[in-house]
Amino acid sequence: MGSKSKLAIHGGPKAVTIDRGGILKWPIVTSEDEEAVLEVLRRGAMSGNDVTKKFEAEFAAWIGTKYALSYPNGTEALRAATWACGVGVGDEIICPSVTYWASATPALGFGATVNFAEIRADTTCIDPEDIEHRIGPRTKAIMVVHYGGYPCDMDAIMAIARRHGLKVIEDVSHAHGALCNGRMAGTVGDVGAMSLMSGKPLCAGEAGMLVTNDRAIYEMCIAYGFYERTVRETNYVAGAPEITLPELQRFAGVPLGGFKHRLNQTCSAMGRVQLKHYPERNEEIGRAMNRFWDLLEGCPGIRAHRPPKGSKSKMGGWYNARGLYRAEELGGLPIQKFYEAVTAEGVPTGSRCNAPLHLHPVFQEADLFRQGQPTVIAFGQRDVRQGPGALPVSERIRSMCFGVPWFKHDRPDIIEQHALAFRKVAENASQLM
Ligand SMILES: *Cc1c(COP(=O)(O)O)cnc(C)c1O
Repeated sequence: MGSKSKLAIHGGPKAVTIDRGGILKWPIVTSEDEEAVLEVLRRGAMSGNDVTKKFEAEFAAWIGTKYALSYPNGTEALRAATWACGVGVGDEIICPSVTYWASATPALGFGATVNFAEIRADTTCIDPEDIEHRIGPRTKAIMVVHYGGYPCDMDAIMAIARRHGLKVIEDVSHAHGALCNGRMAGTVGDVGAMSLMSGKPLCAGEAGMLVTNDRAIYEMCIAYGFYERTVRETNYVAGAPEITLPELQRFAGVPLGGFKHRLNQTCSAMGRVQLKHYPERNEEIGRAMNRFWDLLEGCPGIRAHRPPKGSKSKMGGWYNARGLYRAEELGGLPIQKFYEAVTAEGVPTGSRCNAPLHLHPVFQEADLFRQGQPTVIAFGQRDVRQGPGALPVSERIRSMCFGVPWFKHDRPDIIEQHALAFRKVAENASQLM
């Protein structure tokens, strides 16, 4: 064994010697963003919505839906989407257990409950085969999450939903611009909702966006949280009322949900600039990440987190890019030891998946409505809570996934060294046992 393969953790040379520069930096903010934000500040137009409406129109045109509606954050976009899909007291939604909490907590806030489904170990997205048996008389919607930029199997999910008359909500917070069998993530289900906060692939400072082709869903979301867009004009916002459905028009002027969902226009201004550059930046991220994974093709213990080659599905954004770890191919090497060795080679890594939500006390025992009983069982007809061991992949996924550098620029020299670091550790795993 040559010195080159002596692991850095044992005093060998580091695989990564090159300066990463700003290759991981995100978001990319230029004077164009600054000027756009300043224009809003100088005009004192933070609480208006002229810039916001342009942002929404451009967003809808980019993603390919009839409507786009902006939010102060992704959590609120998901809340509105959940409500507009008819989820109410005593209802149920189906949602993957491994996701950020905001995919699931809105349902609980409506007095509904969440029947958590398993994820697949190869995609980290909801397992379409673990959905149908969870559907009950009160199930209203399936929430899917294009986790870590990986597009869900929407064909299978939509077929189940249509068979049972359920709505499908897509959480696109990790995967802006991903393709699900050729179609933009967020446009396949009844409604798409997503975060645009600064850590996410497409960012607008701190914001969210909801997209749909369904006029009724769009209008319900306006009525729910945009009180001034239901009337002719207010102090800050002029324009024609945006609701036409008589059952919603009655409520004009006061938001049905009691929420106020208007987005600060400094964020809309930044969002417009970010969106303009996003297709090109997303393409470059894709080129860089695919270059990285191509270099690790055939490496033991490591699998790319991306759709198979030749499929019409495509990663989008690659949020918090990750790889799949297969300890059994590395003599059972615990992932913690793998992390340490890779980090020593000069590549910070670690766990990259959320902890499973089905075991969290909020979904087991929290009493939101102060009734003296857990909200998850307070209103429904059945207890859908699940204990340890119920969703084995979701519970194990953190030992089956590791962070890889989330490259924003396609720089072959830097990317090659980073890929080599992972290959070096994997091919010399026996040194760590
Ligand atoms: C970030 C995120 C959200 C919430 O978005 P915010 O803008 O932070 O409110 C929702 N779902 C997923 C999967 C996320 O990663």
